[in-house]
Amino acid sequence: MNILLVEDSQTDAALVQRFLRDDRDPHDVRVVRRFADFAVVVEGNSFDIVLLDMTLPDGEGLDLYQRAREVAPTLPIVILSARADEELALAAVAAGAQDYLLKGHVDGVTLKRALRYAVERNRMQRRLENGLAELEHQRANVIRLNAQKNELIATLAHDIRGPLTAIVGFGEMLAEGSLEREESIKAAETIVRNGQRLSTLSDDVVALSRIELGELELDIEQFDFAALVVEEAESRLTQRPIRFVCDADDTMILGDKRRLRQSIDNLLGNAVKYSPNDSPIVVTLHGNSRSLTLDVSDRGIGIPSAELEKVFDRFARGSNARRAKIAGTGLGLFLVRTFVERHGGRISVSSTPDVGSTFSIVLPRSGAGLSVRGVVVLASDRNMREGAAYELRTRGIRVRELTAVDELATLDPTAAPFAIFVDARIADGDRLRALIPQSIQAPPIVEIPSHFLGDELVAALREITEAQ
Ligand code: ATP
Ligand code: MG
Repeated sequence: MNILLVEDSQTDAALVQRFLRDDRDPHDVRVVRRFADFAVVVEGNSFDIVLLDMTLPDGEGLDLYQRAREVAPTLPIVILSARADEELALAAVAAGAQDYLLKGHVDGVTLKRALRYAVERNRMQRRLENGLAELEHQRANVIRLNAQKNELIATLAHDIRGPLTAIVGFGEMLAEGSLEREESIKAAETIVRNGQRLSTLSDDVVALSRIELGELELDIEQFDFAALVVEEAESRLTQRPIRFVCDADDTMILGDKRRLRQSIDNLLGNAVKYSPNDSPIVVTLHGNSRSLTLDVSDRGIGIPSAELEKVFDRFARGSNARRAKIAGTGLGLFLVRTFVERHGGRISVSSTPDVGSTFSIVLPRSGAGLSVRGVVVLASDRNMREGAAYELRTRGIRVRELTAVDELATLDPTAAPFAIFVDARIADGDRLRALIPQSIQAPPIVEIPSHFLGDELVAALREITEAQ
């Protein structure tokens, strides 16, 4: 045991050292005489415990204890005092001292035992404190998530009410049969448009809950991507002139038709929503043998450059949308990014305020998407572990978090992870592989990139997919 003895009396210090001499269980005792020296020595060394005299040349009593506590907040401190002052003893213990021993009332056996117990008690307390901090952290997380959910519910309620009012209102007018032919057509179009809006909204919310539950599965089939784009564009022709340009010969793709339709729908919906009536929208499709690229361009309000990175985040709404009082939940682009990345593709945007925006998605034609069955994130550093897990989860990937290497032994043999992300500091692949149950086909082990950014994590998964 490494002991730091803070004691100004040479005789007392020698006595304590004699008490602690023990050949079977050696104790290292370092003696300092003043509080100032204590503060210096405790910094650079790893002691197990501090034995503190209550009267030093540069401090005494409870005040001395409290200063010592501040300097060494996690070390157990046992007070060794000549003052038989019950009140002081209680106050010191209440302030966190592990024990208050009276000089002249201890011998070698009792002192050693007191120190051992103090170290153990302190360890338990630390564990409890860490547990409490963890709980507090989780509580804060739950509160934040709950606030986000509440905001989503409020926006949804608002977003549902608008289209519903229009549908009911124009429906009633049609039912009265008093509208002219042209007016009837307008009313019917309004009903269709608002119905579409509600249907997009409900698709988005259902998809969000899939992603949150880690249950987003792609249903891959072969189909003509250009035909899908044309279908979606045509359904919006009543709202806007849309020009479609395709310079790819072959536009067949392997992908999830429903999710890609939802992606195109969201991009077109944004282009319509964030640009003035009558301004044209241009949809371009290029391609080569490996991928197809879809650009959706509008001449709308554009996005401030500082916000370009954020528009794909969950619930992110731009200042442009708020300022122009355009309704929305901030879900659309988050879903598009998730779907596109799941297909092994990428999304990007270029935009100039008051000029317009172009959103581009690149999709591999092979369907070599991220068929990720779920991954493991292994890191004892909470920041790193939760940060990486969060990034992966918000991309719809199921994540199991492990804090220690030996937890690898608890992996479910029936559900092998797609990959294991580990903190670079513990990334000894062979040692880790040895801990994984034999019945599991050992998954690739990948170091968590230093910034644990979502894009980098996804790129790592994409590399694994491509190598397979
Ligand atoms: P939702 O699509 O869920 O109804 P939303 O349109 O606000 O709501 P996203 O589609 O995710 O959400 O878009 C996020 C933000 O990006 C928008 O709030 C808006 O600020 C900006 N944005 C998206 N598309 C465009 C665009 N074509 N032109 C200008 N800004 C856009
Ligand atoms: Mg949108």
